[in-house]
Amino acid sequence: METVTLKYFDRYFYALHIEFKYRKGFLMKKSPVASLREGLDSGDLSAEFLAVHSIEKINKMDGRINAISVEMRELAIKTARAADGRLRSNSDKSPFLGIPVVIKDNMACSGQYFQNGSKITKKFISPFTATVINRLLSAGAVPVARAAMDEFAMGSSGEFHAFGPTRNPWDTTKVAGGSSSGSAAAVAAGYVPFALGSDTGGSVRLPGAFCGISAFRPTYGVLSRYGITAMASSLDQVGPMARHVEDIALGISVMAGIDPNDSTSLELQGASDLVQLVPLDLKGLKIGYFAGDNLKAIQPAVKACVSNALETLEANGAEIVDIDLPCASYALETYCLLNTAEVSSNLSRFDGIRYGNRVPTDNLADMIAKTRNTNLGLEAKRRILLGTFCLSKGHFDAYYLKALRARNAITLSVMEIFNSLDFILTPVSPITAFTLGEKVTDPLEMYTMDILTVLPALADIPALAVPAGLANGLPVGIQFIGPRLSDCSLLRLGYTFQQLTTIPISTTIESL
Ligand code: GLN
Repeated sequence: METVTLKYFDRYFYALHIEFKYRKGFLMKKSPVASLREGLDSGDLSAEFLAVHSIEKINKMDGRINAISVEMRELAIKTARAADGRLRSNSDKSPFLGIPVVIKDNMACSGQYFQNGSKITKKFISPFTATVINRLLSAGAVPVARAAMDEFAMGSSGEFHAFGPTRNPWDTTKVAGGSSSGSAAAVAAGYVPFALGSDTGGSVRLPGAFCGISAFRPTYGVLSRYGITAMASSLDQVGPMARHVEDIALGISVMAGIDPNDSTSLELQGASDLVQLVPLDLKGLKIGYFAGDNLKAIQPAVKACVSNALETLEANGAEIVDIDLPCASYALETYCLLNTAEVSSNLSRFDGIRYGNRVPTDNLADMIAKTRNTNLGLEAKRRILLGTFCLSKGHFDAYYLKALRARNAITLSVMEIFNSLDFILTPVSPITAFTLGEKVTDPLEMYTMDILTVLPALADIPALAVPAGLANGLPVGIQFIGPRLSDCSLLRLGYTFQQLTTIPISTTIESL
């Protein structure tokens, strides 16, 4: 009995200690991964305790947030113990050694559930591990849970998760943003300092902005897509999410690079230098500001945060020029056509034959129809139908081919803009996190949440979302966009911006 009590107190004080380390880190502007690493390196913390602490936090808070789809306790403890062994050897300096992480539920992890936020793959167990996860594991990360997401990564709010919406840790009546809703909320709620999401048209940047954290969509190809469920393959990219840009850069440093299993993967020059981020000299930097209010009205309070960000950059030497992006006015339509076309083709593999749940009948066509009809959600069905329509004979040229041409034109016009600018800045979203249920029955209104995030995706260029203050108590994000393969300087720019500003911390989260 006595030992149990002691253990309980040990655990309690240890948890306080971890929270204290975190908090002290915030005050000193130290990134959460760096603060925890310090504790792990000094022997103050152990990887196992961090993993248990994360899982306990999830158990305590996630009933209200629903950021987690499946816990991976066994894997977490096993990996954490191995990390503790590596830590004791002292010579291992892997950047993520002992750091708990959460991964989006569309990334394969051998032997673990692989639900994709869908009923159709609810019980599917992954037979292999995605390259990005293998690389994170080699760097010592401890995956503790799989994150909730909109079904097959289609959505902007987290409400199309087949097992209930994710709630925003800043205000649980609001959405967390999607589709990487769980990854963003898990970081914002402090379950873990780092999470992986995926971004096809904004799915790490939008939830990142809504939850007050940073999120990065790299140049297409920088992170391998092997083992990530394909939604719209020509647009899908993995995206790291963390409160601080430094931790995102750490993630890129260990995950980037060519993967023989993904023929679209690229080498990112300078990725290994991201371990030690160097600030970018803002003097003489030319940043184009695209306000985006010609596309959709931007909330005044969001605008005010963006203006403050612009002033900070300007006061530190950057030259800000207002720009227009005429191609942005047809980016969303182009994205919707290409996205639905690719979705209709990619999702055809979920047919009850090879993957997941099946509704058994004695006729094959009937089985496929019933399986898909019963197990796929409304948004997935909508996109499959739309995509099949625009790929069908007679409509292919008018829709799909035209959208491909539009994408090309967008890419060329964005490339030209970067001849006279270093970076572009825009709000991530016209509004802050909205109320649960508000847009779920209005698909067009939901799609407009991506109006400012689809452009970099279509042009294959990197975009980094960082917190830029609060509007009516809710986080606002701005987005830095750079030319193709400017990922390293973009991260340095985001890092510099965070050095000059304060990242808001929610007091609501503390009381959850
Ligand atoms: N919200 C966008 C969509 O629903 C983007 C999704 C994503 O990036 N995965 O298509």
